[in-house]
Amino acid sequence: MKIVKFLQGRGLVSAYGFLSYKCHPIRCNRVVTRVLQAPLCTASSGDNIPQVCIVGSGPAGFYTAQSLLKGDKKLTVDIYDKLPVPFGLVRFGVAPDHPEVKNVINQFSTLAEGQRCSFVGNVNVGQDVSVEHLLQAYDIVVLSYGAEDDTTLGVPGEDLPGVYSARSFVGWYNGLPEDTHLNPDLKSSDTAVVIGQGNVALDVARILLTPIDLLKKTDITEHALEAIRESAIRRVYLIGRRGPLQVAFTVKELREMVKLPGCRPSLNAEDFVGIPDKIKELPRVRKRLTELMVKTATEAPSGAEAERQAQAKNEWGLKFCRSPVEFLPDASGSRVGAVRLGINKLQVIDGIEKAVPTGETEDFPCGLVLRSIGYKSLPLDPMVPFDSKKGVIPSTEGRVPGVKGLYCSGWVKRGPTGVILSSLNDAMETAKCILKDLSAGELEASHQAGWGKDEILKHLHQKDVQPVLYEDWKRIDAEETRRGEEVGKPREKLTSLEEMLHYAFKH
Ligand SMILES: Cc1cc2nc3c(=O)[nH]c(=O)nc-3n(C[C@H](O)[C@H](O)[C@H](O)COP(=O)(O)OP(=O)(O)OC[C@H]3O[C@@H](n4cnc5c(N)ncnc54)[C@H](O)[C@@H]3O)c2cc1C
Repeated sequence: MKIVKFLQGRGLVSAYGFLSYKCHPIRCNRVVTRVLQAPLCTASSGDNIPQVCIVGSGPAGFYTAQSLLKGDKKLTVDIYDKLPVPFGLVRFGVAPDHPEVKNVINQFSTLAEGQRCSFVGNVNVGQDVSVEHLLQAYDIVVLSYGAEDDTTLGVPGEDLPGVYSARSFVGWYNGLPEDTHLNPDLKSSDTAVVIGQGNVALDVARILLTPIDLLKKTDITEHALEAIRESAIRRVYLIGRRGPLQVAFTVKELREMVKLPGCRPSLNAEDFVGIPDKIKELPRVRKRLTELMVKTATEAPSGAEAERQAQAKNEWGLKFCRSPVEFLPDASGSRVGAVRLGINKLQVIDGIEKAVPTGETEDFPCGLVLRSIGYKSLPLDPMVPFDSKKGVIPSTEGRVPGVKGLYCSGWVKRGPTGVILSSLNDAMETAKCILKDLSAGELEASHQAGWGKDEILKHLHQKDVQPVLYEDWKRIDAEETRRGEEVGKPREKLTSLEEMLHYAFKH
C-alpha cells in the first residue's frame, strides 16, 4: 500500500496500476523493484519519450535496438521474444563448432543490461498479445521475428521417416525446445544426403561428420552428442540443382569442410570441365570459392594431406545438376532408402544459367535426408500486411505501409538470406527510417515513460503468461554455464521450456 501511495504521489498510478492485481509473489516483487528504479516521468505529453517495442531478440532485433538507442539519447526499447531465452538464431542456428560467431552475444547482452533497453521473453506475439495491442501500448513497433518455417520440396515421399528439414535438425543439435524430440535415426544407414548447397547444408554435413572429440567441447546438446557418437553415417553428399558456379555456400565454410579431420572430400573432376576457363571472369569472392572447389576436385593431394585423406573414415561430396523428384522407401517400406534424382542440364535463359530437366533420373541410396532449401517467414497477425509469395512483410526502408508506427527488420523484412552482419545493415536502415519519422513529427511519444511495457505486462499477467525478464534469463544462463563446466563445454543448454522457466524463476 505504501508503494502504491508513493507511486500515486509521483503520478505513476496509471502506469503501474496493475500492482493492485493479484500477483505471483516473485513477479510482483520484481515489478515493484522495477517501479522503484523507474525514472520519474512528467505528466506533460510534450516531455514524453518515444517507447519502442521490438518483436524478436535475434540479431535484427538487437541491432535495431542498438541503432535506435544510439540515434536518440532518450528513447527506450523493449525487446519481446516468444522463447524464454534471447538471441534467436545466434543461439539456435549458428553451428556449435563456430563459437567465435556467437561472440556477438556479448554486444547484445551489454545492450540488454543498459537502462534504456529491456528483454521480455516467453511472450508469443500474435498469441499472447496482438500486434494491435502492442501498437496501442507503444509509439513504435518493429517486427524482427525472423523466419521460423522451412521451404518444402513438394515431391512424393517427403514425409517418409528419415527425411527431415535441416531447420529441425539444426534445432535438435542446438537445443531448440520444439526440436528436442526429433531423435533422427543416424544408425540405419551409412549415407546421408543433404538437399541444397548453402552454408546451412554445409553446417549439417559438417556436424554429422566431425569427430566426436571435437564436438564434445562445443555447446552442442548432450542428446545430439550421444546420437552422433553412435552414428553410422560415414558419407554425406550435398545435392544441387545447378552447377559449381551456382553453389550458395561461402569459401570459409568450404575450406573448413575440405580440411575436416577424419574426412576426405570426394568431388568429381568431370563436373568441373570448362570451369577453370570461366574463373578469371568471376567476381573476387566467387573466384576464390570456385578455385578452391576446382583444386579440390582436380588436384591429387600430396604429402601429409594425401596421408590424412587416405586414412579418413568419413567422406563428403557435392553432386551437381540433380533435383530430387521422389524419396523412395527402403526394403522394409518403413523409412527412406533412396532419393530419385532428376538429372538437369544447364541452359542460359534470359542471361542466367538455369537448371533444365533432361527427363533422365537416377536413384541414389541413402538412409538419412536433410532438406536444406531455405527458411520461410510466416504471417504473424491479420493486421500486418504480408507478401506470401516472397515470404516477407512488405516495407519501404523498413516502414510498413498503411500502419502508422509499424516497422520491420531482419529476415522477415528482406527474406531469409544473409549473415548476421547483413542484419546489422538492414537494422540500421530501419532505425534510420524510424528516427527520420520521429524528427519529422510523423510519430509522437504519447505515453509516460514505462507505460508500454507495464501495460503489456499487466495484460500478460491477466492471461497467466509469465514473462521472462533479462535477470531471469541470467539465471538460465548461469545454470547452463554451470552444467557446461561440469562436462568441459562452454554451456549445456536447457532444452525444454519447462526447465528454462524453472530456472528462470528459481531464487
Ligand atoms: C542454421 C543457420 C546457421 C547460421 N550460421 C551463421 C553463421 O555462422 N554466421 C552468420 O553470420 N550467420 C549465420 N546464420 C544467419 C543468421 O543466423 C541470420 O542472418 C540472423 O539470425 C537473422 O536474424 P533475425 O533477427 O532476422 O532472425 P532470428 O535470428 O531468427 O531471430 C528472430 C527471433 O524472433 C523470435 N520470434 C519468432 N516469432 C516470434 C513471435 N511470434 N513472438 C515473439 N518472438 C518471436 C524468435 O524466437 C527469434 O528469437 C545462420 C542461419 C542459420 C539458419
